[in-house]
Amino acid sequence: MKYYSLVILAAVTLSGCSEITPETSSSTEREALTVSQIHTENSVLWQQTAAEYKALCYQTYNMAKLQLEQKLHAHAFPYEKKPAVVMDLDETVVDNSFYNAQLLLNGEGYSKETWKEWSDLEKAGAVPGALDFIAFAQEKGVEVIFISNRRVSELQSTMNNVAALGVQGVDSSNYFLRMDEGSKMNRRSAVSENYEILMLFGDNLADFNEIFDKRSNADRNALVAGMKDDFGSKFVVLPNVLYGEWEGSLYNYKYDWTLAQKDSIRKGYIKGYK
Ligand SMILES: [Mg+2]
Repeated sequence: MKYYSLVILAAVTLSGCSEITPETSSSTEREALTVSQIHTENSVLWQQTAAEYKALCYQTYNMAKLQLEQKLHAHAFPYEKKPAVVMDLDETVVDNSFYNAQLLLNGEGYSKETWKEWSDLEKAGAVPGALDFIAFAQEKGVEVIFISNRRVSELQSTMNNVAALGVQGVDSSNYFLRMDEGSKMNRRSAVSENYEILMLFGDNLADFNEIFDKRSNADRNALVAGMKDDFGSKFVVLPNVLYGEWEGSLYNYKYDWTLAQKDSIRKGYIKGYK
């Protein structure tokens, strides 16, 4: 997981951006920090308070139940392998907005240390509708597999957290956490050796197919348009405005831009009508 909005790093000068001198950088950075905090604050507020966020999640999981049922019903012969759904965890099954909120309150950016501190607490909430969907799938004889980029060192705390939310019928063999590479391609392949993957759930396009891994913003949009029939059918997307490759792609996945540079890059993508 990466949280980019508040990351403060040394100023770098990269092509395409005007040079930031030491004299101007501190005030520019202060302004950029304010903009960045507003940006993060709205994202946190939306996830934590907007009933529309909850409604959207319920809607997504309700429609996913219908899709799953239809897929199982339409399959005339027994599956060669046990059917499964593959689910991401963060902002798909579990809600980490408390972590982002704390970063905001502390005026800090993401760090591995604070993330570990948060995940060790085992206090992530449930994304609305996720737990019902998991129980529904299991009742239908569908295995629920979690492929998450939480680190393997977080396996026990993650399992405890998910169990405390009420998920039953899973053990460590249902979890595929991150060992080295961020791409989920090999883990999806490993799962498909033993299971027929019917649907994939995620808040990030890379949760669905490696074709989306580290692609430019333009490519991501073109790919989604080209695969539009898969969404809501094979791929089920949960909303996440807090973080994700939607934002990383704006920065070409370079995370060492200064806040001022990030602010400038973000503004470059915003289109008005004049
Ligand atoms: Mg996620």
